[in-house]
This record gives sequence, C-alpha cells and structure tokens, in this order.
Amino acid sequence: MPTPLIAGNWKMNGSRDLVEAFGRAFEEAALPAGVEVALMVPFPFLEAAGRAFAGTPVALGAQTLSDRPAGAFTGEVSGEMLRDCGASQVLVGHSERRTLFGEDDAAVLARVRAALGVGLTPVLCLGETLEERDAGRTEAVVLGQLEAVFDALSPGERARLVIAYEPVWAIGTGRTATPEQAQAVHGALRARLRRYDAALAEGMRLLYGGSMKADNAAELLAQPDIDGGLVGGASLKVDDFLAICQSAG
Ligand code: 13P
Repeated sequence: MPTPLIAGNWKMNGSRDLVEAFGRAFEEAALPAGVEVALMVPFPFLEAAGRAFAGTPVALGAQTLSDRPAGAFTGEVSGEMLRDCGASQVLVGHSERRTLFGEDDAAVLARVRAALGVGLTPVLCLGETLEERDAGRTEAVVLGQLEAVFDALSPGERARLVIAYEPVWAIGTGRTATPEQAQAVHGALRARLRRYDAALAEGMRLLYGGSMKADNAAELLAQPDIDGGLVGGASLKVDDFLAICQSAG
C-alpha cells in the first residue's frame, strides 16, 4: 500500500494569517501514523509557509512552475526558486491550468521534466470534463493524459510522480464523484501503470480530488485504489482540512 497523502490546494486564496493559523494548528495536531500532508500555497506565501510549517508534518508545495530554468520570462517562477523557498512538491497540469491557461499535454510534460530536474515531486493532475464523461470517454481521456507524460519518462522518473485524478465536473461544484465512480477510474489508472511496471503501479500514489470534504473523505479514501486526496475549498479551513487528514489513517 502506498503511503497516503492528503494535499491541500489553496488555489488563488489564503493569506499570511491563514498560513500562520495552519502552522499553529498542525503543531498541535495528532495525525494518524503514516499519513503525509502537504499544502500547495500561492507563490507569495511560500517562505512564510516554510517557516510556519517547520516543526509540523506539513510538506510545502506550489501550484505550478515554469518549464524554463531561468531567464527573461517575466512573471514566471522556476522550480529552482520553489526549492529555494523550501517547496518539495508542485502541482502540474491542474485542470484550471489546462483549461484557463492553455496548458496542453506537451506543456504539462515540460513542467513535469522541469520539476524532476530540480528534485521536486510533481503531482500530476488528470481528469475528464462532464462532456467527455457523458460521451463515455472518461478512461480514454484520463489514460491519454497519463500516457502523454509517462510514455516520455524513464522508469526512474515515473516512480517519482504522484498522480491526482480530479474529474473537472467535481471541482468546486460540490458534486463529488461517488466512491464507485472514483474507484473505477483509479482502478483503470493502476491497471495502466501495471503495463509500465508492476512495482511502479503498486507504489504509485493515486489521489482523488473534486469536492472532497470532511464528511465524504472517509468513504472515498476507503476505496482500494484511492491513496489520498487533493483538496481545494476544504483545505482553506483548518478544522475541515484536519478532519480530512485524520480520516486518511
Ligand atoms: P475542490 O475541492 O474545491 O473541489 O477543488 C479540487 C481541486 O481542484 C484541488 O486541486
């Protein structure tokens, strides 16, 4: 069984005060043994979060990175800069990056490579739209997004990723995938990973994201191929996020 990971994605939300409140809460929190926790905070809060989370079990993450190492790319942030601020993980290919910022599979792959190149763990996000689901294309879309990255990586590189399945229709909508719907996709992902390598498939963390909340996390996390969560809205409230972390034990 892979080690469970609960990652919070604050998106363009939060504040320095919230960073500090999370730091205080997680200093005292009793988390189940063997559960890993991460928070993906906006760039300007990375340093403050690094300080606030020191001495807590919360790992620091970012929400995207440039595909370039350095140079004249106004407004971009490199993987090396994220490392310098203490981040160990970074989301890549979140559906909001794909749909709102035009990141296609090639752009996602370039960012995965950039993250791996500086020793960050890429959390690769995959997911179908409602239209694609209704057309019966869920597996084709999600496995296609997986293959676009995994086919291009070496076996050693593949093993360094985390995968997050986030059905686009469940993100921020309050409409969670049922445990059965989520498990079906996670099972298909695990089966596809087995075709690369059995050990890779067994060790890979497959997170579910999309309206995960304190009151539905336990039944999602109880599914055999769901190894954690990528939590948006509910990661902005200390109590809700802690409750989700506790249900992963
Ligand atoms: P919500 O939990 O707000 O639906 O967001 C999910 C998500 O996109 C996390 O990356």
